[in-house]
Amino acid sequence: MSASEARAYFMPPRPNGSFIGSARSNSSLSSRTHLVIQEIERLKNENEKLKRASGQFDLQRLPYSVEQHAADTKARREEIKVMIMKAQELDLAFLLDATASMQDSIDMVKDKVAAMSAGISQAYPECTLRVAFVLYRDYDDSNTDIDSKGCNLTSDFDGSGSTFIRALSRVRAKGGGDAAEDVFTGLQRVANLDWQARNRLLVHICDAPCHGTQFHDFPVEKNNEWDNYPQGDKYGRNIHTLLMQLREHCQVTHYYFCHLNDGTKKMMQEFKKAAGEPGWIEEAHFRDINGIPQKVVTMSRSTISRTLSNLSGIGSHVHGTNFIPENVIPSRPNWASIALLNGQQYKHRWYHFLDGLMQKIANREALEVEEMDSLQVQIATHPFSAEGTMRWPYHAAVIQHGQPVRNMVVKRFKVPFGHNIRQVHSKERYLGQMEVQTVAAHMAHEFNNRTSGLRGVKKVEFTLVSTLQVGSKIYNMEKFLEGNWIRYSNNAGYVNTADYAATLQAFTHWTHERSNGLLMVTDLQGVMQPSGNGGRYMFWLCDPSIHCTDVMRFTRTNLGDAGFKLFFSSHKCNDICRHLGLKASDNGYSTVGTQVG
Ligand SMILES: [Zn+2]
Repeated sequence: MSASEARAYFMPPRPNGSFIGSARSNSSLSSRTHLVIQEIERLKNENEKLKRASGQFDLQRLPYSVEQHAADTKARREEIKVMIMKAQELDLAFLLDATASMQDSIDMVKDKVAAMSAGISQAYPECTLRVAFVLYRDYDDSNTDIDSKGCNLTSDFDGSGSTFIRALSRVRAKGGGDAAEDVFTGLQRVANLDWQARNRLLVHICDAPCHGTQFHDFPVEKNNEWDNYPQGDKYGRNIHTLLMQLREHCQVTHYYFCHLNDGTKKMMQEFKKAAGEPGWIEEAHFRDINGIPQKVVTMSRSTISRTLSNLSGIGSHVHGTNFIPENVIPSRPNWASIALLNGQQYKHRWYHFLDGLMQKIANREALEVEEMDSLQVQIATHPFSAEGTMRWPYHAAVIQHGQPVRNMVVKRFKVPFGHNIRQVHSKERYLGQMEVQTVAAHMAHEFNNRTSGLRGVKKVEFTLVSTLQVGSKIYNMEKFLEGNWIRYSNNAGYVNTADYAATLQAFTHWTHERSNGLLMVTDLQGVMQPSGNGGRYMFWLCDPSIHCTDVMRFTRTNLGDAGFKLFFSSHKCNDICRHLGLKASDNGYSTVGTQVG
């Protein structure tokens, strides 16, 4: 409301003639006039503050010329295109035990490699896939690079797959001797492959562990018939060194291990310990080897999706994890030892009509930033988690009306090595983040109204974000979410099928239609809580992304049309979508339902 609008709004009604001159009426009139004047003064101040805030924040978008915007948009679209292509390069290597019991597995990989490729392309049509295999046997079973029958035990990365299939067709599983096998030579061969793609996935299929009682629970007898080398590797190689070579030197993104029985369990426990990074090795048990191809497709897709998501957040020139590290302290700080600082808080105002907000975005107008009353804040000295791809979170407390409110969190961007700190912490980035979450919250508000009373639909809420300036430092501030943190989707087509949230899949689809294809709220993560009113469950979410046809706003996680496409490539309309009357997408396809066969 402008000051002149306020004046009209608060203008006292024309006094009734009969009361003019009465002392009582006069005093009531003058006190009301006083209130109006006060209110006008307050609004004037607010306007001044607003102007100052805009000035301080140097809102670039306002004087953005049409020509400049068009040029920047063109460049950004090209950048997104290249980034998406790079993120879809996949090197997929199979590490196979080729001793006597393994012929079925070898045949399965050979027969299904084309179907696996098709399954990956279905979600990522621009995927460039190269496949390789590495075989190993035991120390004395033709375990040389070319075996006694002239078969090559390694087939390096191949884009067409034909070399792979031809070479694998010639392989006959044989030998084995004792129960343990020479897995280490297999790992060494994997390290010698010509790894190049952005995504590097190793799939290991075997039914026996490596040598050394450290890796298995086989009975140790006098003649060592289960394991001729109970002390460990014949050549003294070390598993930590081998895995580090794969992780650090070859930059293998994931090591996926397929158990065919329980005999390999202990080996993988040891491998995981040796690898250091939790999550780098993933494992699954297969009673039926025909379940493996589908898992390989799922793994490949989620690897690509994660890469896309990471690249879009960070920028394709920065490699995933190269941030200046911080010491992480998960527990809440001892508040008594934390300094109390003065901070200035900025927020977006709430738009009561979503159409008005959408119109503003369509017109490329910035949302107004309001300067709030200054506040006092305490911020933990160390972040409490390293999980966020882009930002460090810190516990924080603000003092409101003399009382500390301690369930707050402030977030600051991570600094990639070699980057200009001032650019990393530019106000635009913090304002952009605040704008994303504010728009998402507005959309969720209408979605909740629209779905209220619908069975099985949960509420969707986003924590409201403000921007906080403390001295020379800037943060985003929001409420701390308690509970079991779950990522339901990302901004690149990933859908969490283990914790599938029908409401959230429908919500993302709905945001696209509700905005007439202008934008889409995605990258949904947070906690689920009972909402209290009538037991309707709610998702409390934060850090979403917004894809928008205007690729110059909503931060770098905005992939524009390409982002819409990525969502629809994995989204399958559910009952809630249908109830809301959402149009099914042409390329509707489901991660859950697609079978590789
Ligand atoms: Zn849908």
